[in-house]
Amino acid sequence: MTQDLIDGFMEAIPLPVVLVDQSERFIAANSTATTLLGGNLVGRHFATVLRQPNVATAIESCLHERTPKTARHLSNDGAQDTTFEVSLRYIAGIGAVNGGAALISLSDISEREQASQMRRDFVANVSHELRTPLTALMGFIETLRGPARDDAGARERFLKIMQDEANRMNRLVGDLLSLNRVESEERVRPREQLDLGAHLASTLKSLEPVADAADVRLTLDTTEQPTLIAGDPDQLQQVFTNLVENAIKYGGDQVTVKLTTRDRDPAVRAAAVRVEVSDNGAGIDPVHLPRLTERFYRVDTHRSREQGGTGLGLAIVKHIINRHRGRMRVESNAAIGTIFTVILPQ
Ligand code: ADP
Repeated sequence: MTQDLIDGFMEAIPLPVVLVDQSERFIAANSTATTLLGGNLVGRHFATVLRQPNVATAIESCLHERTPKTARHLSNDGAQDTTFEVSLRYIAGIGAVNGGAALISLSDISEREQASQMRRDFVANVSHELRTPLTALMGFIETLRGPARDDAGARERFLKIMQDEANRMNRLVGDLLSLNRVESEERVRPREQLDLGAHLASTLKSLEPVADAADVRLTLDTTEQPTLIAGDPDQLQQVFTNLVENAIKYGGDQVTVKLTTRDRDPAVRAAAVRVEVSDNGAGIDPVHLPRLTERFYRVDTHRSREQGGTGLGLAIVKHIINRHRGRMRVESNAAIGTIFTVILPQ
């Protein structure tokens, strides 16, 4: 095979690829590979470029054993880590020494790695969140069967705590199932027409007992005219229930829900409705704002647990709003409290 033909084949491959022959030097590289590894590769020893020991070992054994190999190559351009899967195939009959070379291709698998890391973190978080109430339940069962067996007062107290812990586990499982359902439907746009003003009024009505119990004044500020949008009524109820419940739990003594419409909203580049859920609480430190919708992210874990929070509410909200092709904004400081704004296209 002529060098031109080899170069032509290499250039046609969409991944970064290089050829290393038995002299352990590069004999060809496509332009994607030179962008990644640097120019003037041909003629250089591979170890001056691919220095990582596992990659070097894979190249040597591919050349020596003449069998396929794989390895991982980690690179960092100063800003971010990238993981490449390096795959090596032996090609007989090309190259200067002994005729034969290793074709080495690098594919960027960072996204796949990141996704599996996220999956591992999620499983670890769920296990931890379930284990905490479960440990409490097991402890109380042991006490009730042992030292507190005949203590009626302790039994009542412990059963109440056990009920709270079981409810916590139940809420967590409920939120996990919700999150799963919402995520699986995220690509299907809701079609049902609903009047958001009337919908908000009924959501707020069902939250009145929660607000009353917390001594919070709940106000709805909306227009008389129907505000029609395409939406999933149950999911939108979940969005505004979660936001209003949070405002009640973490805010001050006033929560306002305000509905406005715009002919053209820059946030969604279309006619849209905006729903602002504001409270007069102490606000959220700006460092937390970018991570607030991550699963299990809480500003104050102890306070969230005390309030019966699962840390999944805003993650569920985010996915539902995505499904409606909407946006959510958070503004917060000690002077104004917190304002969550949901923008939904009409
Ligand atoms: P949780 O179940 O903990 O309430 P969420 O996902 O609903 O979980 O909210 C994440 C965190 O965001 C909460 O734990 C709380 O720290 C913070 N947060 C949410 N809403 C407000 C608010 N209105 N005021 C202050 N902090 C809030």
